[in-house]
Amino acid sequence: TYALGPKILNWDTERTSWLDKNREYPNFVKGKPRILLLTGSPPKPCDNPIGDHYLLKSIKNKIDYCRLHGIEIVYNMAHLDMELAGYWAKLPMIRRLMLSHPEVEWIWWMDSDAFFTDMVFELPMSKYKDYNMVIHGYPDLLFEQNSWIAINTGSFLFRNCQWSLDLLDAWAPMGPKGPIREEAGKILTANLKGRPAFEADDQSALIYLLLSKKDKWMEKVFLENSFYLHGYWAGLVDRYEEMMEKYHPGLGDERWPFVTHFVGCKPCGSYGDYPVERCLSSMERAFNFADNQVLKLYGFRHRGLLSPKIKRIRNETITPLEFVDQFDIRRQHEGTV
Ligand code: UDP
Ligand code: MN
Repeated sequence: TYALGPKILNWDTERTSWLDKNREYPNFVKGKPRILLLTGSPPKPCDNPIGDHYLLKSIKNKIDYCRLHGIEIVYNMAHLDMELAGYWAKLPMIRRLMLSHPEVEWIWWMDSDAFFTDMVFELPMSKYKDYNMVIHGYPDLLFEQNSWIAINTGSFLFRNCQWSLDLLDAWAPMGPKGPIREEAGKILTANLKGRPAFEADDQSALIYLLLSKKDKWMEKVFLENSFYLHGYWAGLVDRYEEMMEKYHPGLGDERWPFVTHFVGCKPCGSYGDYPVERCLSSMERAFNFADNQVLKLYGFRHRGLLSPKIKRIRNETITPLEFVDQFDIRRQHEGTV
């Protein structure tokens, strides 16, 4: 069957010895694991040119979040393996980054159609110390209902370790484009509740793997649902004004969602499940909702959630350092969480 690369068997010992020899590249910095966020988009321009503008907004949003929280970021536009083109492209890239960056403790994949909407919230990494994968999901939907939306592969984390390489190897075989992906799609549709008939996708394949080999994998998988590591946009984007009235960033859950993910929207091209206008205006709202939290640091905000125009919210001062702590998002995080 298909393989992502030569089978690696001793990554944990190899990596530990590399870390020992390269103390200037530690995998933990100030007690926090080093995280690398990976995102990307297809190698070619979008069919719909406005899609490229939203890809730009989406990467700006991620750069802002990562800068504020000391997370490194990689944007991939290449198909490292033509067999795994499309939504499967994340798998070879995640593997490649683990092997090329032994100093990185966690690789965090995030879809291009997912936006950070809580710029203050930080992942509770200590909670995951005994786990190797963190993904948004619900155990009952997964193991009782076998639902194809029990987990979401738009935003998830992998620890850089042998276990993760093994999981990627077990996950990839349904991916190769053509007859393999087509046939695998039929197996997935037959086994997963609610799944329409289409070629195998990475999310369904992961659900199927976790269901069929539960004992082998689940011990190290953390199904997170106490905050929105992935939040389905349709239930969130119309409530942003209400959230701004009642709550504040830093909560990460339905009161102030950490991530808003535009599942089913395809502004870049091909066919989505929603009208493209609704997708675009909702993305605009998510982007501006998040961008307000960034602009606030600098004394501005958008005039409205659909407006690219901004206005001043504080007067300039000749003694800026008096207030610098007050507006620093990193300190807000210490204060609220
Ligand atoms: N993607 C990529 N290269 C591609 C196609 C997709 O990097 O050639 C990424 C992109 O970030 C996208 C994600 O894979 O958001 C998921 O793919 P897709 O958009 O097709 O699925 P959806 O986000 O709608 O679930
Ligand atoms: Mn997506």
